[in-house]
Amino acid sequence: MIGIFGGTFDPIHNGHLHVAQQVLDLVALDQVHFLPCAIPVHRSVPYESAENRLRMIELAIANQEKFRLNTLEMRRDGKSYMVDTLRDIKAGFPGHTICLILGADAFNQIKGWKSPREILRLAHLIVCRRPEVTLDNAIFSDHWVEASASLGDSTESSILPLEINENPCSSTRIRDMLEAQTAEIQCLHPAVYEYIQDHHLYH
Ligand code: ATP
Repeated sequence: MIGIFGGTFDPIHNGHLHVAQQVLDLVALDQVHFLPCAIPVHRSVPYESAENRLRMIELAIANQEKFRLNTLEMRRDGKSYMVDTLRDIKAGFPGHTICLILGADAFNQIKGWKSPREILRLAHLIVCRRPEVTLDNAIFSDHWVEASASLGDSTESSILPLEINENPCSSTRIRDMLEAQTAEIQCLHPAVYEYIQDHHLYH
């Protein structure tokens, strides 16, 4: 099973790394792909360039055997619709089960995404807790499963709410702190923090 973890990663932070590691610890995934979007659909354009966001992900996941950088959305023209991405990933990994990893805030918005039912036909969803977010368990309620083992029963269409330990980091907060020149290193991988400082990002 391949985990797909999409986001703006502007910048990647310890909350992202924590989510990916907890999912790996609790679900039998072979890999987790960090998939930065090129042009987000439901939010403003990223603060930093694709190149900088990619480089920061590379630095943060270096030496992590099961973490991969997936540049599919960066290489595709136009807006980054997850349904198109999942179709491409399915085609690129025939026979593999795809699990889309989402924080609770992202999952709560999924009905506003392009073709949410099709997304569910292409992948399982793994939904992780996030501080100050109440998971909307009315969304696709007939697809929810309780145990990660249930994801092996089919190749798509299950939603697993995962009881991970919560992590408070957020890119918005980090950007605000960096702009105010307040060090926010506890939420950033040291190599990412160094890259941000060296390249004068988020000022
Ligand atoms: P922003 O503050 O700009 O909204 P973010 O911190 O949410 O950014 P994104 O790159 O937008 O970062 O998030 C990508 C994915 O990671 C989303 O599914 C989001 O819900 C999830 N995520 C990010 N941080 C956390 C966290 N601390 N706990 C759980 N999920 C998270």
